[in-house]
Amino acid sequence: MFIFVKHKNTYTMSKPRFFQAVLKEVNGNVLDHVYPNLKGKDQITLAERMGSDKANCPDCDCNSWILLPKESVAVAQGGKAYCECMNCGLATHL
Ligand SMILES: [Zn+2]
Repeated sequence: MFIFVKHKNTYTMSKPRFFQAVLKEVNGNVLDHVYPNLKGKDQITLAERMGSDKANCPDCDCNSWILLPKESVAVAQGGKAYCECMNCGLATHL
C-alpha cells in the first residue's frame, strides 16, 4: 500500500496519460497463452475452467472474451488471467 501511495503522488505531478489496449486474437490454446509456465504440464482445460469447450458466457451466451492486460488491477491483484465477455462485460478468470 505504501508503494501505491508513493506512485500515486508521482503520477499526479505529471500530465495525464491514457493508454488504449489493442485487441489481437489469441490463436491456439488460450490457457497455454496466459499460463505459459504450465504449458505441456497437467494444465486445466478450457472445458474445466469455462464449463464447456465452447466457453459460453453464463449471462449472455456469447463466447468471445477480451483478456485483460497484465497491467490491469484485476490481473495484478488477482494473480490470474482475467477476461471479460465481449458482449455483456461479465468478468471471470481463466
Ligand atoms: Zn456475456
